[in-house]
Amino acid sequence: MKLADYYEDSANRLINDCIRCGSCVTGCRAVAFSGKDIDPVAVQDEIINFLRGGNELGPAAQFKFKSCMRCYGCLDLRCPIGLNPMLIVELVARKMQLAKENPWSMPLYPVHAALAEKRSSAAEYARISELSPKPESGLVFFPGCNVYKQPDKLLNALDILDAIGKDYSFLPGLAYCCGASARGNSGDAAWLQESAEKLFGLAEELGAKRMVFWCHTCLSVLYNQVKLFYRPPFECLSFSAYVAENLDVLEFPAARPCRVAFHEPCKNAYMGLDLESPRKVLRAIPGTELVEMEHEGRNTLCCGGRATGSMPDLARGLVDARFAEAKAGGAQVLVDLCHNCHEFLFSAARARPEAASGLAVENFAGYVARAMGRGREDCLVL
Ligand code: SF4
Ligand code: SF4
Repeated sequence: MKLADYYEDSANRLINDCIRCGSCVTGCRAVAFSGKDIDPVAVQDEIINFLRGGNELGPAAQFKFKSCMRCYGCLDLRCPIGLNPMLIVELVARKMQLAKENPWSMPLYPVHAALAEKRSSAAEYARISELSPKPESGLVFFPGCNVYKQPDKLLNALDILDAIGKDYSFLPGLAYCCGASARGNSGDAAWLQESAEKLFGLAEELGAKRMVFWCHTCLSVLYNQVKLFYRPPFECLSFSAYVAENLDVLEFPAARPCRVAFHEPCKNAYMGLDLESPRKVLRAIPGTELVEMEHEGRNTLCCGGRATGSMPDLARGLVDARFAEAKAGGAQVLVDLCHNCHEFLFSAARARPEAASGLAVENFAGYVARAMGRGREDCLVL
């Protein structure tokens, strides 16, 4: 199947068959959290008018569009005409992009390589930017692109993989893409498909029996979009799942007592992926006491990072809710798994210490590596 045809077909079905039941609006996590009283029929009417050829989105649909955090929290909603509710926002983004003069000319990774180089040594930069094939291992590790803005997270992850001690092929994240870069996210379905096919094709060439993903967006894109046109003939799993199954070889000589709350990546949590493995790893670290927040697992809250620019009040409200829930459980550290959540939560805690009230924010790879006696300084501090 061509993903571009799927987008086209979905847009036509939305325009022609939507019965305005409103489930995709009232069931949206961002709309629910905002508490805003919006008319779901007006939202759908305005979206459909826009997709039919209207010049701009109406105000109700603008709110829905701008507040979307791409959290995957609407995938389990039942649309009576069988549409993927998350795709509706993508279709709007695609139409907006296509109205531009050079719709797909945006830089793919505008700051990633520069930040990776600035925030790591020459040897570290070489380690994370060069393809390292080990076909006999049957194992492939792929970091995705966005973690390159915070290379310490990726380097910590590689240190943990080294401590596990099994060979793997390393596929550099800025040379290959799952398809969800700015271009894929803006609706260039053909590019998304081509990128994903290139990435997974290389994994196949390298004899992958298992492919480990650092990035939760990559995994979510695999399960939501890539699987429409490609089914990997090997197992795909997250970094935390891989660490959890290798706990028996890891040692934590530098572990110290700490009460920890865990902020999971919304995308995976709402899809029911990987709810247990990061918790299993944290619990295995001597002295770590894991407390659950009010919203956890399939009921978690997004960090709101994606809405920072378009809906700052919504984003701020979500961060404050996460800090308050972690503090309510007596946590000293809020551990996040995703680098994007981390950047947002960590920066908010530094910018507004009164909201975090003493709560530290640490990334999962850093927390684990530090307990192993290897952790690096968080590059966001520098
Ligand atoms: S992805 Fe999340 S924020 Fe966007 S429409 Fe779905 S539930 Fe709402
Ligand atoms: S859930 Fe489906 S039918 Fe209902 S308003 Fe949304 S797109 Fe239309």
